Amino acid sequence: MLHTLISMTRQKAIFPFYHAVSDTNPIHIKHLYQVRGIHQFEKDIHFFLKHYQPMRLDDVFNFVKDKKRKSKPGFFITFDDGLREVYDNIYPILKKYDIGAAIFLNSSFTDNKGLFFRYKASLLVEKIIKNPAFKVSKDVVKWSMDQRISSVEKAILSVNYQEKGRLDTLAEIIDLDFEKYLSECRPYMDSEQITELSKNGFCIGGHSKDHPLFSTLTADEQIRQAKVSTDWVHEKWPSTYSLFAFPFTDYGVNNSFFDNASYDISFGTAGLKNDSIHNHIQRIPIENYPYSAASIVIREYFYYMLKSIIGKNTIKRE
Ligand SMILES: [Zn+2]
Repeated sequence: MLHTLISMTRQKAIFPFYHAVSDTNPIHIKHLYQVRGIHQFEKDIHFFLKHYQPMRLDDVFNFVKDKKRKSKPGFFITFDDGLREVYDNIYPILKKYDIGAAIFLNSSFTDNKGLFFRYKASLLVEKIIKNPAFKVSKDVVKWSMDQRISSVEKAILSVNYQEKGRLDTLAEIIDLDFEKYLSECRPYMDSEQITELSKNGFCIGGHSKDHPLFSTLTADEQIRQAKVSTDWVHEKWPSTYSLFAFPFTDYGVNNSFFDNASYDISFGTAGLKNDSIHNHIQRIPIENYPYSAASIVIREYFYYMLKSIIGKNTIKRE
């Protein structure tokens, strides 16, 4: 069936994407999404290897040029946010099968210099759940009401990039120390680990400075966020091609951004879709679905075909 779907959709490559792989969901991720377990990830890899050929960055670059592949359909895996599980759990598996991949890093967080605001939210929710007395504490209730949501957990998870300072305020109220978490749990990889990966089949790309939702930024700020991270990557891990993956989603990002961007290839998260931007690749999110990679990918081909009937399988921009 897969073979038929590939030839019907003429999609010659897939780009699965993950954040981490671990048998225990890290607390900073626990309340946001479910990561794949180690065994499950290895099964995903078996599926990809059975039906697709692993691509290296040169293959991806050639694919971007003409959207064709001479040989078997290809796959290229990417990992966002630069989490330690990439080094600890993913790297040994990819090495075993000799598969290359790309990782996308936030310049403000690598080396545990800072923590993504959504990860802060997950840590706060965990602390509130573990200490239910906080839910009736006067200061916490007031904080939650300022967010205009009465459930504290929901209020925490509703905080956006522009309001992220509010998470620090709540952390102070409930005595949660993000710096301590960063130094003790070390959720991100450090530069030496990334250097080792870069010498062993991993390409390194930018993922913005501190992970904003691009559609909520001004045009200048979008360019700046992308450039700061890709320049920083280029300085630390120079490579032939410069890569960038949008934090969250590229939804709502206009043509003018792509016209002015200074990288070679960028990546989105919209699933199996064509994009009107020639050097922009949409990836398939694998996490969050408790299904095999096979069923996730097959579902994407079906969506793609359904959308092609109504002419919506190509992302067009203003
Ligand atoms: Zn991300």
